[in-house]
Amino acid sequence: MIDVTTTGAQGGQQAALGTGVQISGLTKVFAMGTQRVPALDHVHLHSDQGSFLSLLGPSGCGKSTILRILAGLDTPTGGSVKVDGKGPAELRRGHELGIAFQDSALLPWRSVLSNIRLPFEVAGVRVDDDYVREMVALVGLEGFENAKPAQLSGGMRQRVSIARSLILKPSVLLLDEPFGALDDMTRQKLNLELLRIWTEKPATTLMVTHGITEAIFLSDHVAVMSPRPGRIKEVMDIDLPRPRTPEMQRTPEFHAYVDHASELLFGGALSGDGALA
Ligand code: ADP
Repeated sequence: MIDVTTTGAQGGQQAALGTGVQISGLTKVFAMGTQRVPALDHVHLHSDQGSFLSLLGPSGCGKSTILRILAGLDTPTGGSVKVDGKGPAELRRGHELGIAFQDSALLPWRSVLSNIRLPFEVAGVRVDDDYVREMVALVGLEGFENAKPAQLSGGMRQRVSIARSLILKPSVLLLDEPFGALDDMTRQKLNLELLRIWTEKPATTLMVTHGITEAIFLSDHVAVMSPRPGRIKEVMDIDLPRPRTPEMQRTPEFHAYVDHASELLFGGALSGDGALA
């Protein structure tokens, strides 16, 4: 039996103080008219600076809510969130956050170059066109600089979205199912590219996903959540060497992680491609 190392519900306690993701007692209750919808219940989560942490859990368990709170797009009912010692407002002010969502949210009237350039304009800083072109190359879109989003495939649009999220050299990267709407083959390919890009442009990363194999393949830590109201069931430390290669997904170590995560999520073995229903 292969030993799968975990850090328990508090997760990653070895992280140095003030670095990485630091979520303490995070609670969120949504108000829907007179109804109260508890979405998150005292979530504790810690990771190291520069590490790749994934949130894995069933639909509606509050994964996106955690990300939105970190991004400063929503406020907590209780508890605190920081990344690398800074709260969401400070991270936003310093343009230290890169965000990419499932829906690439590109401006349809703008070209690839112009969409990637956008964060410079929003931040009111001089556009570094050399760096914009470097990012186009990094995400493999050379030759499509002047194309409009409607002229691109779904995978290409997500590449633009990833390039845009990285253009201000963020120290923190928030990814909400960035390839969730794509077919399996494209998703696998883009996950490999994401790994390469993340290695070249390191950032403390938090990714929301409902794909078990994807979470394990990409991450240093996988936080498995319970159904709503979301809590952290366990943080799995993924002790696979880097650089990661697709072949690793066929090793006994990898399968042991998948089995452990599916045990946590369903209390049993996984079927199909590792995606949660
Ligand atoms: P996940 O990303 O894990 O699928 P979400 O974070 O999107 O889950 O949502 C968690 C829970 O909070 C869900 O039950 C959802 O319906 C609820 N919720 C999310 N946003 C709102 C909102 N703005 N108003 C009311 N309820 C919400």
